[in-house]
Amino acid sequence: MRNFLKVLTVSIMLVSFLRAQDKSSPAADKSQAAKPPADVRFSVDLLDKSIDPCNDFYAYACSKWLAKNPIPSDRSSWGRFNELAERGEYIVRAILETASVDRPGRSASQQKIGDYYASCMDEGAIERASTKPLDPDFQRIAAIKSKPELPQEIVRLHREGTDVLFGFDSGSDFKNASQMIAQLDQGGLGLPDRDYYFKDDPKSVELRKKYVEHVAKMFVLLGDDEGKAAAEAKVVMEIETGLAKGALDQTSRRDPQKVYHKLTNRELAALSPLFDWNIYFEGVGAPRFDSLNVIEPEFIKNMQEVLNAHSLDDWKTYLRWHTVHANVQALPAAFVNENFDFFNKTLQGTKELRPRWKRCVSYTNGDLGELVGQVYVQQTFGAEGKERTLAMVEALEKALGQDIKSSPWMGADTKAQALVKLQAITNRIGYTDKWRDYSKLEIVRGDAFGNSQRANQNDLQRRLNEIGTPLDKREWPYPPMTINATYDPTQNNITFPAGILQPPFYDNQADDAMNFGGIGAVIGHELTHGFDDQGSQFDADGNLRDWWTASDKKQFEERTGCIKDQYANFVAVDDLKLNGKLTLGENTADNGGLRIAYMALLNTFAGKEPAPVDGLSAEQRFFLGWANVWCGKRTDAMSRMLVTVDPHSPPRYRVNGTISNMPEFREAYHCAATAPMVNQNACRVW
Ligand SMILES: [Zn+2]
Repeated sequence: MRNFLKVLTVSIMLVSFLRAQDKSSPAADKSQAAKPPADVRFSVDLLDKSIDPCNDFYAYACSKWLAKNPIPSDRSSWGRFNELAERGEYIVRAILETASVDRPGRSASQQKIGDYYASCMDEGAIERASTKPLDPDFQRIAAIKSKPELPQEIVRLHREGTDVLFGFDSGSDFKNASQMIAQLDQGGLGLPDRDYYFKDDPKSVELRKKYVEHVAKMFVLLGDDEGKAAAEAKVVMEIETGLAKGALDQTSRRDPQKVYHKLTNRELAALSPLFDWNIYFEGVGAPRFDSLNVIEPEFIKNMQEVLNAHSLDDWKTYLRWHTVHANVQALPAAFVNENFDFFNKTLQGTKELRPRWKRCVSYTNGDLGELVGQVYVQQTFGAEGKERTLAMVEALEKALGQDIKSSPWMGADTKAQALVKLQAITNRIGYTDKWRDYSKLEIVRGDAFGNSQRANQNDLQRRLNEIGTPLDKREWPYPPMTINATYDPTQNNITFPAGILQPPFYDNQADDAMNFGGIGAVIGHELTHGFDDQGSQFDADGNLRDWWTASDKKQFEERTGCIKDQYANFVAVDDLKLNGKLTLGENTADNGGLRIAYMALLNTFAGKEPAPVDGLSAEQRFFLGWANVWCGKRTDAMSRMLVTVDPHSPPRYRVNGTISNMPEFREAYHCAATAPMVNQNACRVW
């Protein structure tokens, strides 16, 4: 399964959300870089001394790196953590190449990851198979005789990993968080977000036109004539637009109150009387249950209307489109190229396809991540890394405790509750204590298509088996080589995979100042998520429960409102500004995280200021540690897309927006009170 976070889980950076986004590139391996980037560590040589840090700190810290590092042609964005991710790709490739040598004595795990990767790399076999692997799906779709038969087919497609109509999964019960329940979500759209179907600026209108052209081209590749393909693409667009009407936007999906609707099965049936949910739930492999979280009841109600409004033939067209779309990675080059052309080139501004091996590394990580991850942590992650990270987490928790206690706007009752919640946060560092079981998954050498479908099936079954069971906090949201970190409000825990515990985030050769500005602030960011506009609605046990006094809540909302307004004025690209509400939780976490990391760093001094390094004080280096992590750039197309779908601010504002709220920054760099990096109306929540 390609790593999707459960609803409301928050991370330090965007998780791949576009299923088709990474499915690019056919035959030619256009890898320019034969080896990974040499050094991802901070160096004082990266500073642009011609720029006054008080005028533009991001430019001071990053412009030299940005000048030296154009966006690679096979990328739509590039930054320092992409360099780190790329190093990880080389490590995983070596693991997979070793495992892919078909020799006697391979372990079951080696057979699985090795043969999966070898099958993905075997373009000859994929070309020879052509579209034959799609035939069983297409034959079943063609044989559907009436709409009441649709649920059975949706079962099969969902099990294969094809996103049609809606999403079904397990998740914590927000009001009884130790229990896993069934969860029904919106789904079935080809474009990245529901807003794409309705925005009426010229660029959005043009994008929809190109999407319809892309869908038509895919039907032509499947053998339909151009006239028929164009009509089919129009139908797909109509159905998806219909479904999108009932879908929640990204800002609403951050609001726990808007994504929690626990209904009985009977209440669900009343929302869409003509769709037989019993057939679906039983067929898809869910254990029996009486109630579930219908994330957006309006979506289901609207889905029924869209089902009624279109003919069975229209629905067959829609299912056929999503089947080819979802499986494009295992299809011949012509399909992969066409998919790249729309989803990467047009939508994100990427110029070239990624080398095949990188895509195959990514698919193997996605489908067999915890088998690959076991070898990865053996090779890269020592006990020392875990211990030093835990020590930092403790230092950050202590600082957040000090911050809560000394908060000028929070009353004693709410403070006491906040401290209980802070005490209860648990930490997951490096890798899981309980690796996933893949023993029932069959990986067949030479069958890239089947491997991917069976892996999806295996993973969906694992998740559905959790319905009705107690929450198992040993289940990690992604494998250990991931470069990310998360806070889960329903579990009240933070997760730091081995992947991120490396330079530039964490460097065992660097001083505390750099590391507290890097990984320290990331830890602080995740801890602060427990107390942002979303996380603050959950209690110490992860239950959606209001533990605030009314007056403290009002104070809190005034302060988050300041951050919302501040970031809503930042321009992402052209005249497009950030969505202050969508990015509020992440910006609150950046601001709080950097501040408590700073407090934790001062605590390590124990009254004795460390000697400067390279002429920079520890305080100055701390802020450079933060900026260094975020040096990065995006294509204009990617910036446009992320404004709609990404709750994180662009790198420049993660740095400048945050430091400009901190008098500590002003002091460290001796900035004038009127300097651009001094926010006259400084915002502070934590
Ligand atoms: Zn975050």
